[in-house]
Amino acid sequence: MARYSVDPVCKSKIEEEKAAHSSEHKGKKVYFCSPKCKETFEKNPLQYMAENLRTGA
Ligand SMILES: [Zn+2]
Repeated sequence: MARYSVDPVCKSKIEEEKAAHSSEHKGKKVYFCSPKCKETFEKNPLQYMAENLRTGA
């Protein structure tokens, strides 16, 4: 069964196996729909990780 993750930048659902763009933040793997989202995340990872905590994701 496919595992899904949420792109923290645009909230797209990403199929982890097919994700072309991923990054690691504090040991947690983060997936992105595009290099643009990855770039945005890496400029300010804390903002997006904090948002994830708030939504409980
Ligand atoms: Zn995205």
